[in-house]
Amino acid sequence: MRWSRSLIATLRDDPQEAEIVSHKLMVRAGLIRKLSGGLYTFMPLGLRALHKVSQIIREEMDRAGAQEILMPALQPAELWERSGRLATMGPGMFRLKDRAERLMALGPTHEEVVTELLAGEVNSYRQLPCTVYQIQTKFRDEIRPRFGLMRAKEFIMKDAYSFDTSLEAADASYQAMYDAYVRIFTRCGLDARPVEADTGDIGGKWSHEFMVLADSGEDGIVDCPACGYAANQERAERAAAGGSLPGGCPLEAAAIPAATTTCAPLAEVATPGARTIDDLVAFFTCGADRFIKTLIYLVDGKPVAALVPGNRDLNEHKFKRLLGAKKVELADEATIQKVTGAPVGFAGPVGLKIPTYADQGLKGASDFITGANKADTHLIHVDLARDTSVTAFEDLIVVRAGDACPRCGKVLQLKRGIEVGHVFKLGTKYTESFEAKYLNDKGQSELMVMGCYGIGVTRTLQAVIEQSHDANGIIWPVSVAPFAVTLLLLDPKDPTVCAVVDTLEKALQEQGVDVLVDDREERPGVKFKDADLIGCPIRVVAGAKGLAKGGVEIKLRTSKDFDLVPVEHAADTLTALIRKLTASLNT
Ligand code: ATP
Ligand code: MG
Repeated sequence: MRWSRSLIATLRDDPQEAEIVSHKLMVRAGLIRKLSGGLYTFMPLGLRALHKVSQIIREEMDRAGAQEILMPALQPAELWERSGRLATMGPGMFRLKDRAERLMALGPTHEEVVTELLAGEVNSYRQLPCTVYQIQTKFRDEIRPRFGLMRAKEFIMKDAYSFDTSLEAADASYQAMYDAYVRIFTRCGLDARPVEADTGDIGGKWSHEFMVLADSGEDGIVDCPACGYAANQERAERAAAGGSLPGGCPLEAAAIPAATTTCAPLAEVATPGARTIDDLVAFFTCGADRFIKTLIYLVDGKPVAALVPGNRDLNEHKFKRLLGAKKVELADEATIQKVTGAPVGFAGPVGLKIPTYADQGLKGASDFITGANKADTHLIHVDLARDTSVTAFEDLIVVRAGDACPRCGKVLQLKRGIEVGHVFKLGTKYTESFEAKYLNDKGQSELMVMGCYGIGVTRTLQAVIEQSHDANGIIWPVSVAPFAVTLLLLDPKDPTVCAVVDTLEKALQEQGVDVLVDDREERPGVKFKDADLIGCPIRVVAGAKGLAKGGVEIKLRTSKDFDLVPVEHAADTLTALIRKLTASLNT
């Protein structure tokens, strides 16, 4: 491709709305252009790189035995009603009506469509296992589209679905996809880690997310360097804390020698206007860990209380899973008033008449401070065992750095990550709704067991840049680079140099090497800068000066130095280099 005749426009300055480096670089290098919030056009350079990511995914899906299909993005809402997700998807799903007033959806995902499809296609155990996949556009009305392709309203996903005769067989299909994902991300040059994940709206039993570690990542990842346990913070568990709890009423702190002492009797303290933990910390002049927060939730419409240490946050995902609930939301003011008899900010577990779950770290909690279920009042000397009736002690809080690993008990770390892929074991959740059955070898009808597997193709592309760049621009791994080679024609008016470039371009094309020739009438400085910005792995400089010295300059994007290579050896040198770069990414 010749730069002078293509739609490649680099920008000197960062686009204003871009917050993270990969978004800035994608726009500056001319890979994408914004249409409106969360909607982007792929320009020629961006589309080439996107095709390479898709191709790697396609090859690895095929290698894992999955079959490519393509399902419609536009789906009848009736399918979503059958799975029960029309209600739970909420406003994140684009809904529209056709001219016959039939409610339709723009697919945010395809479990419904694919299960309906396979229910019709598969009759016998002989047709199973069967895994299908597609690379297709998805639509999600994200609350906050941002970071360019990372969280878009329209994006490209690879979604695969496996169908099996049994849970054990489904485990093998899951493992095949998991292994394929490891290969895909390695081939894309990404350092992506599988972590245990929550199953969210898709439902199902078990899942792993593939996370690209990056400070800009939207997900928290809990990681144990000692044993390798890694989980999304939404899911992460922690070992029950050992040792004694803080406790001890600060008003009489000196009088309480140890946590083992019998707790003093309950006492009310007037705390006018002190509703939040911060207010209370200021009022009692003590640490937040002296308090027990009492949170009143509506769990599928019924009030339930959650008790967590004052310095910790409840993990709603864990709470929801624990209760097997469909919907968990903080109760409204009226409910809180009704349940506790007090305005918001003064709830406490003593005398509370609703199911009450306490974080496991509060087991044995004695001499704590809680709300008194009375306006402007708190209770001191609260002993959970003595004064309250806790339904169960469970792991309820958001795990943070410093907590104990649930596997080995060592100290956990917290990192940030970008979710590029997700593999789920779904079981029979969807095959039940769609009566997707097959006849087993005894002629009996059974439900197929499913798995589903997504990769954000467009997000993966941008994640490559987020992980691989420097101050001057993108550093593409050769596997996904729009071009393997940028060939800079420094003297476009010099016929000798032009002839060398023409010959080299042809030789490379004949060997299947993608080469971008920068033949613009620009100063060398501009071309060098742009070559760094768009970041192709190899830069070749052809100029009158270099040729006089004996050849063309060949330089890797990752190194400072170049080699002067005689023109007649240039093509071979380049193909050998590309082979070496490719081999380093092979699995
Ligand atoms: P997230 O938690 O980031 O919203 P998700 O868990 O809802 O994502 P899945 O339903 O698991 O996403 O979709 C599969 C993959 O699609 C994700 O792993 C991610 O890479 C990608 N993806 C999801 N939402 C978006 C989006 N709005 N823009 C770009 N890619 C997305
Ligand atoms: Mg996900």
